[in-house]
Amino acid sequence: MIARTPAPVHAARWQHALAEAIRDPAELLDLLELPRELLARTAAGARQFPLRVPRGYAARMTPGDPHDPLLRQVLPLDEDLAAAPGYSSDPLEEGAAMAAPGLLHKYHGRVLLVATGACGVHCRYCFRRHFPYAEANPRAGGWSAALAYIRDDPSIREVILSGGDPLSLADAALARLVERLAAIEHVQCLRIHTRQPIVLPERVDAELLEWLAATPLRTVMVLHCNHPREIDAAVADALQRLQTSGTTLLNQAVLLRGVNDDAGVLAELSERLFAAGVLPYYLHLLDRVRGAAHFEVDEPRARALLAALEARLPGYLVPRLARELPGRPAKTRLAAGP
Ligand SMILES: *Cc1c(COP(=O)(O)O)cnc(C)c1O
Ligand code: SF4
Repeated sequence: MIARTPAPVHAARWQHALAEAIRDPAELLDLLELPRELLARTAAGARQFPLRVPRGYAARMTPGDPHDPLLRQVLPLDEDLAAAPGYSSDPLEEGAAMAAPGLLHKYHGRVLLVATGACGVHCRYCFRRHFPYAEANPRAGGWSAALAYIRDDPSIREVILSGGDPLSLADAALARLVERLAAIEHVQCLRIHTRQPIVLPERVDAELLEWLAATPLRTVMVLHCNHPREIDAAVADALQRLQTSGTTLLNQAVLLRGVNDDAGVLAELSERLFAAGVLPYYLHLLDRVRGAAHFEVDEPRARALLAALEARLPGYLVPRLARELPGRPAKTRLAAGP
């Protein structure tokens, strides 16, 4: 993850918003009228993976509530450092799937390009927290090795830009990359995995919409929204604008204890997403990354939550409950259970 980055001189509005994100836990606690005593529990966690919260996202948190579900996703805690059996720094064994620097080829027909290590927000449960971005950084080689690999394998139909958050990159760089991908005949679909429109809706500006609408590739955006309160009017507006570019909008959420491990919250999330033009796609069980054990929802409870969703929502609003296990041909689906 990158350190403090001042906005470039001719920065877009979103780059200023990103540069002004809250990085000091004391400032966040003050803003939310929470006791400074909580600071003593954040220091060690913040050293390992620093705080980063866009101001617009913090504004959606409830002042005075230390258990706010949005706050819980971003506030460093010393529990983040706890070792737990079965939790590691590379839980998906992605090291083995690295086909070229920054390019993961695990599943048929799709490759995942780690476009950048930077994010608009730092999520405490993130499985990429320990990712060796320095070794994977494809930009060092200008993506050439990754593009050559894609060009040489005609089974690859879809390229997934991921990270980090690929929308942390400037639009000029993204537009150039996407142009090079579109020039490869067998690549037909561009997918973007991003949390940026949720945490920094300013990101959805005219420049982004322009290259999204212009590329001949079919475009899919998989957003990452975990809680209905993450969708305020500005986010709903950004999602509406994204639809004007002809992009299919899907959402993946992570099932997190103390954030969204509740059937009512998950149902409301699906409904709010749909109202904003987004279909739920995945509900992921947490990857067992070192330090995230305090977010874990166990499988029986996850399957019971899925059953509760199936009992109250139309099928198209029920996300696929999935877990990623190394060495499988696809993500592993879990069925609803009692
Ligand atoms: C999740 C993932 C994909 C995409 O899987 P879908 O089931 O198509 O969403 C592709 N590559 C990697 C490495 C992944 O982790
Ligand atoms: S969950 Fe996504 S946005 Fe959050 S820190 Fe991880 S990669 Fe970045």
